[in-house]
Amino acid sequence: MEKDAAKARIAELVEEINRNDRLYYVEARPVIADADYDRMYEELIALEKEFPEFKDPNSPTVRVSGAPLEGFAQVRHDPPMKSLDKCYEKGDLVQFDAFLRREMPAGAAWRYVVEPKVDGVSMSLLYESRRLVRAATRGNGEVGDDVTQNVRTIRSIPKTLPEDAPETVEVRGEVYMTRDGFVKLNESLDEAGRQTFMNPRNACAGSLKLLDPKIVATRPLDMVVYNAGGVGCEGFASHTEMIAAFRRWGFPVSPWSRTATTIEDAIAAIDELGENRHGFRFEIDGAVLKVDERSLYAGLGATAHSPRWARAYKYAPERVETVLRDITVQVGRSGVLTPVAELEPVELAGSVISRATLHNADQIAEQDIRIGDHVWLVKAGDVIPAIDGVLTEKRTPEIVKYVFPDVCPVCGGAVVRLEGEVAVRCVNPGCPAQLQRRLEHFASRNALDIKALGGRVADILVDKGLIKDPLDLFALDYDALQSLDVGENGATRKFGKNALNMRDAVRLARGMPLDRWLFAVGIPNIGATVAKDIAAEHERFSDLPESAVLENVIQNDMKKGKDRKILPIKVEAAKAVLAFFRSEYGAAFASRMRELGLDPKRAEKETVKTEGPLVGAGCVLTGTLSRPRTEYAKMIELAGGIIQSSVTSKTRYLIAGENVGAAKTEKAKALGTEVIDEKRLLELLGAVEAAEVPRIPVQGTLF
Ligand code: AMP
Ligand code: ZN
Repeated sequence: MEKDAAKARIAELVEEINRNDRLYYVEARPVIADADYDRMYEELIALEKEFPEFKDPNSPTVRVSGAPLEGFAQVRHDPPMKSLDKCYEKGDLVQFDAFLRREMPAGAAWRYVVEPKVDGVSMSLLYESRRLVRAATRGNGEVGDDVTQNVRTIRSIPKTLPEDAPETVEVRGEVYMTRDGFVKLNESLDEAGRQTFMNPRNACAGSLKLLDPKIVATRPLDMVVYNAGGVGCEGFASHTEMIAAFRRWGFPVSPWSRTATTIEDAIAAIDELGENRHGFRFEIDGAVLKVDERSLYAGLGATAHSPRWARAYKYAPERVETVLRDITVQVGRSGVLTPVAELEPVELAGSVISRATLHNADQIAEQDIRIGDHVWLVKAGDVIPAIDGVLTEKRTPEIVKYVFPDVCPVCGGAVVRLEGEVAVRCVNPGCPAQLQRRLEHFASRNALDIKALGGRVADILVDKGLIKDPLDLFALDYDALQSLDVGENGATRKFGKNALNMRDAVRLARGMPLDRWLFAVGIPNIGATVAKDIAAEHERFSDLPESAVLENVIQNDMKKGKDRKILPIKVEAAKAVLAFFRSEYGAAFASRMRELGLDPKRAEKETVKTEGPLVGAGCVLTGTLSRPRTEYAKMIELAGGIIQSSVTSKTRYLIAGENVGAAKTEKAKALGTEVIDEKRLLELLGAVEAAEVPRIPVQGTLF
C-alpha cells in the first residue's frame, strides 16, 4: 500500500473502531457484527506494523501491543483535585443547607443534584485538539501519576471528541471496576493461586498501577465522568447542563441522578439511592449532594481539602455479626486448597448467607480467624460475602488457633506451597477432588458443552471409579450408565435417558473446534478467550505440544524492538500450554487423545459467500424480528449482502418484521425495493427450513 493511502486508512480504522467501542460500551447499541469489528481490528494491527510511523497514540491496538512502561511520570493538577467533605447523618445535611443559606448572596436560589458516589479511583482526562492526550490519577490532589497508556485501554472512554466539544477540555471523574468483573477477576486469581483483591476499588487501583497496558486491557474497567477540570467547561451555567454536554460528547456519565429544590427532597433522593445502592454495576459508598448552579460556586469557594458547594453522605456500612461454625477446605481443579467459612445463617444486604470464601491460609492467619468465633460479615464489592474481623472479646477459652491442613482433605496427599503463590496445592495427580472439578470444567458450556454432566454427576462418576480421566468419557458404556443411581439425600433416582443425552453430547464433542478443546483441558491461565487466540494460530490439537508458534511468542518477548511479531498471545499463556504438554499428565493426555483418534481442528474462518441470492444486495432490517438484529446483520453479510441503515434506490430487500408501518413499505416499493418477511429472508440465507423459525419477540424497532 502507498504511504498516503496507509496513513489515511489507519486514521479511518482508528476512528471507526473507537466509534464502535462507544456504541457498544457507552450507548449499549452495537451496529456492526463482531466479525466485522474483528476484521477492522486485525487490519489495523497489520497496517500499524507495516507503517509504525503512522501509529496513532490513541489507537485501540494499545490493548494488544502497548509496550510496558518503566514507571509513571508525574502530573501537576491545576486546579488541584479536591476531595469531598463527608457526613454520616441526615442532620448534617440539614446543617449544610443552613450553611449555604448563610453564605449565599441575598436572593440567590439554587437546586440540589444528588448523584451516586462511585467508589473507584479519581481521574483527570485532558483533551487537546479534541484528542485524549493525558490521563492522570488524583495522587495527593496536587500531583498525580500519568496513566494515559492504561486509561487508553478503557473502551468506554472517548479517544476523540466531536466537533461541538471545545478544542481543549479537561474533565474529571471516577474510573471503577465493574462488580461482576471484580468477582470474575478474583475467581481467576484464586484459581491461579494468586493474591485476590479486597474490593473493586482496590482491584481498580491495582490495575491502573500496572506498567503493562496489555494486562490492564483485560481488566473490566469503566468510568463515570462528573466534574469539570481546569479548562474548557467554563461556559456551563449548571452542573446538570454540563453533564448533558458530557453525555453528548460521548463520555460515560452516571446512570442515575436526581434534582431537588429543597433539602428535604434532596434527602428523599438520597434515601431512594440508598435503597437501590446495590443495583449498580459499580460499587457506591455514598451519595454526593451538589449545588446545581455553577455560577454560585466561586462565591462559596473551597477549603484546602474540598469545595464548599458539595457534600458526600456516607451510608452506614452493612455488616452483621454471626458465628463461624466451621472451616471446610475445598480442592479445585488445579489442586488449590480454598478454605470456606461455614456460618450461622444470617441476612445481609438482601440475602441469607451461610458461607463465605476465606481465599487462603494467609487470610485466616492474618485475621486470626478461629472456628467458634463471633465474626463480622460484610459483602466485598457489594456481592461477595467476606469476613471482616473477629469479635475477640466474645472468644471463649476453648476456641483455639486454626491450623491449616498440611495434607489434602480429600485424598490425604501431600500439599505444597509454590514460590510466589499464596495458595497451597494438592499435587497428587490422581486426587479425586481435582478430577471431579476438572471433569466438570471439561463438560462446561464454553468447553465441550456436555449438559447432562453437571457437578453432581461428575462427583458420582469419579467416586464410583467409572472415570479416572475426563477422556474416559469417550470410552464409557452409556447403556450401562442408564441404571446409575444419581439420587440425593438417600433417595434413589436412575440416570436413565440422561445417559443417552450425555452419549450424544460426547459424540458431538468429537467435532468441537480446537479452541474449545484447549479450554476444556483446563490448563491454569488458559481461559476461553486466551484459548481462542492460541487456537487461531494452530491447525490442530496435535500441533500444540511442539508448537513453534508458542516457542516464538516466548522468544520474541525477550527480544524488544521492531521485528517483534505481535500476536495476541501472552507469554504467560504460551508458557503454560507448553509446560502442560511437557508434564507427565499432559503428555499422557496427548497420547490418549491419539489413541482415541481425537485431533480437534481449528474452527473454520467464516468466509463471505461470493455466490447466492444475497451477493451484492443492499438490505435494510426493520420492525420487530425474532432474533437480535446484529445476528441477522452478520448472517446477511456472510451471505454477501450489504447492510444499509435506510432504504435508498440501491436497496434490494427491505426485511420487514412485525409492527412496520404501511408508509415505510410503500416508500420502499416506490424505490423498487422488494419487501420481504423474515421467513423469506431465511430462505434466501439458506440458513434454516422456514418452518423452524422460532418466534421469540424482540422489543422495539431496530432501524
Ligand atoms: P473520598 O475519596 O472518600 O475522600 O471522597 C471524595 C471523592 O469521591 C472525590 O475525590 C471523587 O473522586 C469521588 N467521587 C465519586 N463519585 C463522585 C461524584 N458523583 N461527584 C463527586 N465526587 C465523586
Ligand atoms: Zn488431593
